[in-house]
Amino acid sequence: MNLKGLTIKSFHDGLVEKEFSAREVTREFLDVIHAEDGKIGAYLSVFEDNALYEAECVDSMIKEGKKITPLAGVPLAVKDNMLIKGTRTTAASKILEHYEASYDATVIEKLRKEHAVFLGKTNLDEFAMGASTENSGFHVTKNPHDLERVPGGSSGGSVAAVAANMALAALGSDTGGSIRQPSAFCGVVGMKPTYSAVSRSGLIAMASSLDQIGPITKTVEDAELLFHAIRGKDVYDATSAENDIVHEFGDLPPEAIKNLKIGIPREFFIDGIDSRVTHAIEEAVARLKTLGFSFKEISLPHSKYALAVYYIIMPAEVSANLARFEGVRYPGIPEVKHKANNLRDLYFKTRGEGFGAEPRRRILLGTYVLSSGYYDAYYAKAQKVRRLIRDDFEDAFKSVDVILAPVTPTPAFKIGEKSSDPLEMYLSDIFTVQANLAGLPGISIPVKNYTVGSGELPVGFQLIGKPFHERDLFGIGKLYQRGE
Ligand code: GLN
Repeated sequence: MNLKGLTIKSFHDGLVEKEFSAREVTREFLDVIHAEDGKIGAYLSVFEDNALYEAECVDSMIKEGKKITPLAGVPLAVKDNMLIKGTRTTAASKILEHYEASYDATVIEKLRKEHAVFLGKTNLDEFAMGASTENSGFHVTKNPHDLERVPGGSSGGSVAAVAANMALAALGSDTGGSIRQPSAFCGVVGMKPTYSAVSRSGLIAMASSLDQIGPITKTVEDAELLFHAIRGKDVYDATSAENDIVHEFGDLPPEAIKNLKIGIPREFFIDGIDSRVTHAIEEAVARLKTLGFSFKEISLPHSKYALAVYYIIMPAEVSANLARFEGVRYPGIPEVKHKANNLRDLYFKTRGEGFGAEPRRRILLGTYVLSSGYYDAYYAKAQKVRRLIRDDFEDAFKSVDVILAPVTPTPAFKIGEKSSDPLEMYLSDIFTVQANLAGLPGISIPVKNYTVGSGELPVGFQLIGKPFHERDLFGIGKLYQRGE
């Protein structure tokens, strides 16, 4: 079977037409995982028996003539910072190496109702902190297009799994670009929904005012299907919201979609951006113009402060969220428990040995910016600038409907190239953090027929939409991919 060409849509059609069974397809994906993942390292755990069982259940439903949903039998990979009941959930941290989830994340519960198949849990930068998946407490994931390069991060495992045909689609989380940036590096579609569109219940929190779960797929059409299945208000997440605009799915007529005006923010085309990325973006814009879209230059004057603001607010929230891992409330590290002399010693040893360098760095930074005497100078000020960044978008959306920008300043970089210089790594997020700070939906779409270097590295372009206007991103993205 041609797994490479398979999408959620074509899988569903084939299943209904009885061209193959769900079990057969799941088996094929598991075989690719066995054959390829030794090289790539996308997965942290694989649920072979469970996955086959879930697929067989879908086959029985079809045999009994029951109607199946668009996601029934779809073999999915899940980033290992989302809880699947009864399975190990580590956030790629040694501090959670022995933690078994006691309930399903809301997104998992929703996908179970659709009878999706869960293949396994994927690697990430520890607690989703990073842009290369080199910060995992377990192993480095490689870019399937060039094994010497990073897949991006922090959802590097989920993205690599989809790009290497080791899952039909995947779930990732995006706090400052972790779905969109690796998707651009690996040539797949990745979408961060509007803040609050998808429940965060059962997602191991990194920075709660920024985190969102979203789909990673091969096509925009698939991303829409998966988003549709996981979104919605949830009693377990007080920040989750239902919004009417989201409901207007389905295919808007192409003429209506082409009326959407696309803004190009001047500030996103800065010195230092790789010329290959600039060319790719020009190529995407030219194609969209051929399709009939009109463009307008816009300004987001405060976006130059976005990275600085993100690296104050995010660590502040990280330091609060990660306080709960002290060796008592979660299993902690058994060897440390035996060594600890008293409670204080247990805290110190668990956190000292359990957290890797990046979480430690962010806990320190976050504690500093929240500490008395510095709170006003850093945290409070960053919150004010966050407001200005949001206002810029609100202003821009008075004259355009969607904003087009690069996703990353460079194509995928080499493993080890940036890992010793955190600041250099943080710069990878320069075009993605704005959407998180402003709570807006953003999608990364591979630029068609555009690859660079011998490993044929893909480049992505980003569309950012108004709050709850995911359908605009899907609408434009689908037309772009179909070339209509
Ligand atoms: N690269 C960013 C960071 O390191 C984004 C991480 C994310 O979105 N989870 O914080």
